Formats: sequence, structure tokens, C-alpha cells
Amino acid sequence: MIELKNVSKSYFTDVLETVALNDISLHINAGEFVSIMGPSGCGKSTLLNMIGLLDLPSKGSIKIHGVHLQDHKENELARFRNEHLGFIFQSFHLISDLSVIDNVELPLLYRGVSTAERKRLSEEALAQVGLSNRKDHFPNQLSGGQRQRVAIARAIVGKPTIVMADEPTGNLDSVLGNEVMQLLLDLNEKQKVTIVMVTHDESMAKKTHRILRLYDGNLVN
Ligand code: ADP
Ligand code: ADP
Repeated sequence: MIELKNVSKSYFTDVLETVALNDISLHINAGEFVSIMGPSGCGKSTLLNMIGLLDLPSKGSIKIHGVHLQDHKENELARFRNEHLGFIFQSFHLISDLSVIDNVELPLLYRGVSTAERKRLSEEALAQVGLSNRKDHFPNQLSGGQRQRVAIARAIVGKPTIVMADEPTGNLDSVLGNEVMQLLLDLNEKQKVTIVMVTHDESMAKKTHRILRLYDGNLVN
């Protein structure tokens, strides 16, 4: 369902070229939970940005759900992302002056869902991450683990088929990190959501179906 063929990505600063990804081909099946590992600077974020359609490759093709996406315009990519993908980040990326439930319903607002339906779906997503009793709090009134659970609720509120997670447990201690990881494992197992996760934590990666290892922009599995 996710297919990268001969994907390369270079960044140019003045005359200097950095090859962040070098001829990557990979296939991720529906329902898989895949982790991406490798040393700092090896291209993990860049690969996640390619799969998540946040940036386009310099060369090669990206196909998701059978749709070739490398030639799409930014607004078409944004629509595709909003419909099919959910995102979770290491630093949560919640909006501090919006309440928990208002943060969660943001992807639906963008999609033009009615107020009542937004409320229903957001409450459902918050229940799923065990935070129904915090919906009117603000992010700074929550612990790190709770903030990440809000971010997960926001990522899944639109019922995406794919969730992209960039070091989702990187800012959490091991107990909270394990709770967040368990939520992701449940999401994958029970709701059949495909998950692609960057992590530095071998013990988290071992719980996923497959580990992709990057080194200097190359896939080394
Ligand atoms: P990782 O996530 O594994 O730490 P990145 O994907 O962030 O690696 O970076 C891969 C390489 O590309 C690094 O050498 C990094 O400095 C470079 N890079 C990433 N993003 C940019 C950018 N926007 N401009 C210039 N160089 C970049
Ligand atoms: P993280 O802590 O999540 O691994 P990274 O260091 O990989 O964060 O980078 C965060 C963001 O900054 C990424 O989106 C990446 O593309 C960008 N980035 C990384 N290296 C560079 C760089 N040398 N120049 C510009 N942007 C960069």
C-alpha cells in the first residue's frame, strides 16, 4: 500500500549538496507496523517526510493506495494527507491556546466536518486514548504522556489508514513511553492501522513487525 521506488532526496545549500536518501526502494503492506532506525543524520526524518508526503523526492516515485503522488501539487498532497495519514511527533505539536478537544478536532475542521460530528468523533478518539476526563483542559495542564495521548487522538480522529510517528516516545520516560507504545500497538492490531515509526529505542522497535535500518541515506537491511 506504500511503495517507494528508487527514491533519492538531496538538499542544496548554496553549492553544497547533501544526499539525505540514496536510491531507496521499499514496500510497506496494509496493516504493517514498521520502525525506522539508524544514527542521527542518516535520513530517518527525510524518509518519514517522503512517506508522509510532507516533502517530495528529488528522484524516484511514491505510491500510496495505488496513487502515484510525486507529481501532485501541494494542495492535492495536503488533501491526500488529511484523508489518509495521521501524524505524531516527538514534541507533540499541540496548540497551547486550544483545549484538548479543540486540538483533537483540528484535522476534521480542515476537512469541513460539521460541528456535531467533530464533537462526536473527537470524544470517541479521546475515549480511545483514555483521556475523556481531560477534554476541556489545556495542553500545559497535562503531563508529557497525556500530551502525547492527545496527539495520538488528533492523529486518529479522521480515521486515517496510515499513522506516521516520529520518535513518539522520545520525550517520555520508560513507563509513559511504554503506555504510548501500547496504544500504538493496539491501534495497529485492533484497527488495522498501518504505522511507520522512527525510533532510537531498540526495545520499542523490537515490538514492531519489521525494522528498516538506514545508514548514510542507504537502506541496509
Ligand atoms: P535523521 O532524521 O536520521 O537525523 P535527517 O533526515 O534529518 O536525518 O537528515 C539527513 C541528512 O540530510 C543530514 O545530513 C541532514 O543534515 C540533512 N538535511 C535534512 N534536512 C535538511 C534540510 N532541510 N536542508 C539541508 N540539509 C538537510
Ligand atoms: P529529530 O530530533 O526529530 O530527529 P531532526 O534533527 O531529524 O529532528 O530534524 C528535524 C527537522 O529539521 C527535520 O524535518 C529535518 O528535515 C530538518 N533538518 C535536519 N537537518 C537539517 C539541516 N542540516 N538543515 C536544515 N534542516 C534540517
